[in-house]
Amino acid sequence: MTASYPNTQLLIANEWLDAASGKTLDVLNPATGAVIGKVAHAGKDDLDRALAAAQKGFETWRATPAHERAALMRKAAALVRERAGDIARLLTQEQGKPLVEAKGETLAAADIIEWFADEGRRVYGRIVPSRNLAAQSLVIKEPVGPVAAFTPWNFPINQVVRKLGAALAAGCSFLVKAPEETPASPAALLKAFVDAGLPPGVVGLVYGNPAEISEYLIPHPIIRKITFTGSTPVGKQLAALAGQHMKRATMELGGHAPVIVCDDADLALAVKAAGAAKFRNAGQVCISPTRFLVHNSLKDEFTQMMVKHAQGLKLGDGLAEGTTLGPLANARRLTAMAKVVEDAQAQGAKVATGGERVGTSGNFFAPTILADVPLTASVFNDEPFGPIAAIRGFDNLDDAIAEANRLPFGLSAYAYTRSLKNAHLLAQRVEAGMVWINQPATPTPEMPFGGIKDSGYGSEGGPEAVEAYLNTKAVSITA
Ligand code: NAD
Repeated sequence: MTASYPNTQLLIANEWLDAASGKTLDVLNPATGAVIGKVAHAGKDDLDRALAAAQKGFETWRATPAHERAALMRKAAALVRERAGDIARLLTQEQGKPLVEAKGETLAAADIIEWFADEGRRVYGRIVPSRNLAAQSLVIKEPVGPVAAFTPWNFPINQVVRKLGAALAAGCSFLVKAPEETPASPAALLKAFVDAGLPPGVVGLVYGNPAEISEYLIPHPIIRKITFTGSTPVGKQLAALAGQHMKRATMELGGHAPVIVCDDADLALAVKAAGAAKFRNAGQVCISPTRFLVHNSLKDEFTQMMVKHAQGLKLGDGLAEGTTLGPLANARRLTAMAKVVEDAQAQGAKVATGGERVGTSGNFFAPTILADVPLTASVFNDEPFGPIAAIRGFDNLDDAIAEANRLPFGLSAYAYTRSLKNAHLLAQRVEAGMVWINQPATPTPEMPFGGIKDSGYGSEGGPEAVEAYLNTKAVSITA
């Protein structure tokens, strides 16, 4: 499968540029392993120009009325929608996910931009009854300043747009280091903003060496806010650096989502919803269901139904008609999946289906169900981030909740039960930033999106997401 794929440049002050050094990195198609394009690799001089542009962009953008900012954002959203077919093809070629998922991600981006555009018009301060009647006490919300964002390759558009939408709505300028492995689709997203007429410097885009760029941008005095999505170990490093330089930070990190299937669950619903969620984007999703805890009375039937679901998926190139499961996004994930399966088997788990690479070209890994997995297996402790469901049984709901809360992660959690009492108990006691009961994950821009514990802090949805890009100023005026 081939389609046209561009080389990706840096975006600085609304100009698309090669790196000053001319340096580039190769971009591979994970379905074939072939080099399909190049991405510019920024050096310090490029970053300095991008930072100066972000400062200028901030001065212009903060002085633009929220109403006008919203209009420009809505125009960008319309362009994303209009171009969704083309953008989705770029996304599938560089990331691997089936075209229908890529299109869904792109259209969801337009929805997210529109929601934040409108939310930015509702950034209200307040008037506080003053103790001194001659004085007026005001609470004013102001944009925090130029933002440095770091986003990963699993949702190349969505991970940018949740940060971008909130930052622009608040009046911040936004400089993003997007993923080098999947650069063209985020560039197409930012192009929609440039084409919509955003002033120069309001958005900027760089690629390069992630550690070098974050070490340069985070401490830089122009940058006032950091936002990162990626693994917990990297998030901890970046949060520490942000702390040293007293920068506001939002961290959206790894998860290891429990799925609790109670003895009174609707099994067909659980398999349909959790099965679809498990294999979406080949499991490379921070909110992917990963630890399946199933009441022992249903465990064998649930496992058989999940096996059937997995075997019904069509593995292939994301551009091919009918593909429902694409390749893994990079070769590192293939190696990681093989290790996860080997370790689980060595510890006594059964491979109910899958468990191995498929073919010798492209990063294809069979959808995998591991049954009777011991708690000591790595898959029950480290986020698998791939198409592997690990199942074990429980007898008592309290034990399942204790297991759900055992790990340091707390991003998303799922449960299936017909009992309202169980549903409320689970909602209250499971330690996670997001709990979905009797449904797959349904993140929307209006609901908070974020984790607790080692899964990070801050939210990328709802009014909380905009608040993260605002300073609060207390003002008292006596006439
Ligand atoms: P990784 O931890 O090296 O990278 C994860 C992301 O962080 C990448 O986008 C990378 O470019 C970026 N990154 C790494 N070091 C950085 C630094 N010093 N400064 C700024 N950005 C940096 O590993 P990986 O192989 O790309 O992914 C492996 C793991 O990362 C996965 O198993 C998963 O746990 C996690 N991950 C999570 C998400 C998410 O949505 N939360 C997305 C992608 C990867």
